[in-house]
Amino acid sequence: MTPTPARITAVDTFDIRFPTSAELDGSDAMNPDPDYSAAYVVLRTDAGDGREGHGFAFTIGRGNDVQVAAIEALRPHVVGRPVEELCADPGSLNRDLIGDSQLRWLGPEKGVMHMAIGAVVNAVWDLAAKRAGLPLWQLLARAEPAWLVSQIDFRYIADVLGPDEALALLERGRVDADQRSARLRVRGYPAYTTSPGWLGYSDEKLARLAREAVADGFTQIKLKVGADLKDDLRRMAAARAAVGADFRIAVDANQRWNVDEAITWTRALAPYDPYWIEEPTSPDDVLGHAEIRRSVAPVKVATGEHVQNRIVFKQLLQAGAIDILQLDAARVGGVNENLAILLLAAKFSVPVCPHAGGVGLCELVQHLAMFDYVALSGTTDDRMIEYVDHLHEHFQDPVVISDGHYVAPSAPGFSAAMHPESLERYRYPDGTYWAEALPTPDPHHHDLLQRKGAAA
Ligand SMILES: [Mg+2]
Repeated sequence: MTPTPARITAVDTFDIRFPTSAELDGSDAMNPDPDYSAAYVVLRTDAGDGREGHGFAFTIGRGNDVQVAAIEALRPHVVGRPVEELCADPGSLNRDLIGDSQLRWLGPEKGVMHMAIGAVVNAVWDLAAKRAGLPLWQLLARAEPAWLVSQIDFRYIADVLGPDEALALLERGRVDADQRSARLRVRGYPAYTTSPGWLGYSDEKLARLAREAVADGFTQIKLKVGADLKDDLRRMAAARAAVGADFRIAVDANQRWNVDEAITWTRALAPYDPYWIEEPTSPDDVLGHAEIRRSVAPVKVATGEHVQNRIVFKQLLQAGAIDILQLDAARVGGVNENLAILLLAAKFSVPVCPHAGGVGLCELVQHLAMFDYVALSGTTDDRMIEYVDHLHEHFQDPVVISDGHYVAPSAPGFSAAMHPESLERYRYPDGTYWAEALPTPDPHHHDLLQRKGAAA
């Protein structure tokens, strides 16, 4: 009797919310009261090896239940799949999920449904890396270029990047990869920190955290801007005084402005020498970004954390609209689409400085940046991964920062798994934390709205 191959038996979901708004951690010009959240997914199998695939989409509070429901809508595509086949070719699932014609109507390839696809696809990559016994960055860096190319959907980008050129970029990228891999394991990958610059922090706290960032070996800090110009000028002055003239300070407007405001505001901050202006306007406004970039040079323009797919990234690059591409591990359709985005960036020689923070985004995106360094772009020049020092304690394989660098993960997987106790405590609305914090169970969640209204 032939043994039945192991299959995916369950797609379990969790609505996980952390009460970060209480301390104004994560506050910016557009998100004054974030409760950092994860629509979390666990793929279980009957392989009997105890391995699970973990993934998530990052959201900020209300709406996380919508994100969870979107993940659940994908369940029929996943349950019953043979584990070995799935892990050998995550791209096949990726194509099926993107191609579900009824769910595709909600996008296509953008927004809540696409983030759900990203969560599920990333969970498959987590499982694949665990089964391979490798951290994901290493699985990708050791993979055959032709196989990596087979994982990419070139539809809508083939006018700019097709399989042949992708293969050539990956073949070139792997030259001396072993040396870079060894260097990465010794030195890590450069990081910058956003922790000093949240909009809700006092000038004293900002200056103290900025000085600490310099002392801790980071090569850049970032300030949230865009709510009030007088405040921003004062905060930039405080930050510049704290770190000195030669240290990079990036600023981030979180999409606050119209194009003309972005130009005026960034020019007003220019005497304090901001290194980049991040998300100056809508992430969909390709030509707006191009106009801003022309107008605020030499200040660089950065965006990407809300860029919804590879097609918009393609256009941003075609239009010469960005100096820095800010890849996000959990916004687009998972590792497969991020491979396409890394290749587009490599083709245009635009440095990738990944977006991180939130819940677990540092844990995920370090793998993509490290793969890029070892086996694609081959450099960390002008490249840094964002770092925010919140919520890592909930992860089983949390990021480690040493002397301003991300230490290369060595545990098999995508570093996506949270501690079971954290899932129990912060599951909304019935985890042990929320059961106590919320006055009465309310199926419509109006209690949380009221709680925030009363605080504002
Ligand atoms: Mg940002």
